[in-house]
Amino acid sequence: LHPAAAPAYAAESYPTSHEKISNVQDTPYFIDNKFLKSEATQFIDLHDPATNNLVTRVPQSTDAELKAAVRSAQKAFPAWRATSVMARQQIMFKFTQLVRDNWDRLAASITLEQGKTFADAKGDVLRGLQVAEGACNIPQQMVGEVLEVAKDMETRSYREPLGVVAAICPFNFPAMIPLWSIPIATATGNCLILKPSERDPGAAIILAELAEKAGMPPGVLNIVHGAAKTVDFIIDEPAIKAISFVGSNRAGEYIFSRGSANGKRVQANLGAKNHAAILPDANKQHALNSIVGAAFGAAGQRCMALSTLVMVGETKEWLSELAGSAKSLEVNGGFEQGADLGPVISPQSKERIEGLIDSAEKEGATILLDGRGFKPEKYPNGNWVGPTIITNVKPHMKCYKEEIFGPVLVCLNVDSLDEAVDLINANEYGNGVAIFTKSGATATAFQKNIEAGQVGINVPIPVPLPMFSFTGNKKSIAGGGASYFYGKPGLQFYTQLKTVTSLWRSEDAISKAADVAMPTHS
Ligand code: NAD
Repeated sequence: LHPAAAPAYAAESYPTSHEKISNVQDTPYFIDNKFLKSEATQFIDLHDPATNNLVTRVPQSTDAELKAAVRSAQKAFPAWRATSVMARQQIMFKFTQLVRDNWDRLAASITLEQGKTFADAKGDVLRGLQVAEGACNIPQQMVGEVLEVAKDMETRSYREPLGVVAAICPFNFPAMIPLWSIPIATATGNCLILKPSERDPGAAIILAELAEKAGMPPGVLNIVHGAAKTVDFIIDEPAIKAISFVGSNRAGEYIFSRGSANGKRVQANLGAKNHAAILPDANKQHALNSIVGAAFGAAGQRCMALSTLVMVGETKEWLSELAGSAKSLEVNGGFEQGADLGPVISPQSKERIEGLIDSAEKEGATILLDGRGFKPEKYPNGNWVGPTIITNVKPHMKCYKEEIFGPVLVCLNVDSLDEAVDLINANEYGNGVAIFTKSGATATAFQKNIEAGQVGINVPIPVPLPMFSFTGNKKSIAGGGASYFYGKPGLQFYTQLKTVTSLWRSEDAISKAADVAMPTHS
């Protein structure tokens, strides 16, 4: 079975519009470099969020399929870890080129299944591709350490792969987040079992095809499908040594605690409530443009979306201009030219987001711009929420406390920078934050005192490039951030150190008697 068997993933004629797919097929799974049709009895219907037309059926992988994925990865591991790092680097070079060659195809699958605009989907692919490009430098990154620790004795440290590892991905970045794992896990010599989001596995399926084309041997990357049942299998399967998870707190805290209790390494990036503090001395145009882009881009379904605006002092006067700019955004099908934001992922998500807007209204906030009930003419059946701005929000309100994950900006007023810092620090999430100011001193004070893992200074979405790491904080990351994604900590996550101490001494220098005391190195 070729992925092209599912029209949504076809190599030659992938969909570039929201037209109904007439010959809907099931999403294949991928084991031993083969695309296979699942024997599943349960399926998750995947609908185009712009139309709610059926795109594909995603199987809940059977026990036999999940076990087969593990066996395949276990079988592949000895030869893969023994493959020279230079050979793995060559595969990574080919893989990155193939991702570039298939950039539009990957982006189209994202727009169709996830709903974001085609231009934004291209960014989704690019940010993942950059991690893969970074992994092309794996020989340099894997270099160990050595020291002559005593006469004729030296200690060397090596980075070794863990074995079979797994990744569990969220729906909102169908290419970028699988690409936080695939390149680093495999280039370091591990075999990876990846479970894409059951809501949009298409990009991961295409990536698997490209990995095989790039020369990854069978079993090095396997893709399984499903929801909680597959996750439980991954958590409890002893052969899986580590889990990379990105998604909500509800799933991630469970996976982190049960996975850790089972003795696995778990890295888990979780939810967010990112604030932007806007100071009266900010460049108004830049600040407002940045906030509108970061609050409403991708329909607010980014873990680094700026969903909360803290207006310091007189910047509250800028609200009507902000609302005007948000109102002018075009909400439309992601394949439409000029669309600024697409639909949200599902009817349930739309209902939850609109429910949170309702709750704000009931709790006494003001709905300055109301996106409830919005529908673009051409796509009346999609999961639409127009850009929404809620003002006069107080910290006790539900719309402030919960991650909304939709095109909704909640706005609070404070009188000073200190008050802004206190408010932001009191929030339990700590993924990202941004400040808009022209003062270096203000920005520096903010940067030092703020408890968020990623700080933007006049930069709305400060997601670090792969030479750094994704460094959430507080409730936005499990385990106190001990294991970040990509960058140096990402490499550490997928490898374990082995330190070897050796003595090479000539026969005549060997001591005549046994030494029973601990050496004192004097
Ligand atoms: P989600 O937690 O619903 O799903 C993520 C994965 O977990 C999926 O593969 C899903 O199948 C699985 N899952 C869901 N519920 C489960 C359960 N009860 N038990 C076991 N497994 C379960 O998240 P989502 O809705 O796909 O993604 C959105 C969330 O992800 C938001 O909270 C967002 O902030 C977060 N996110 C965080 C980052 C980050 O780097 N911090 C990046 C992207 C998304």
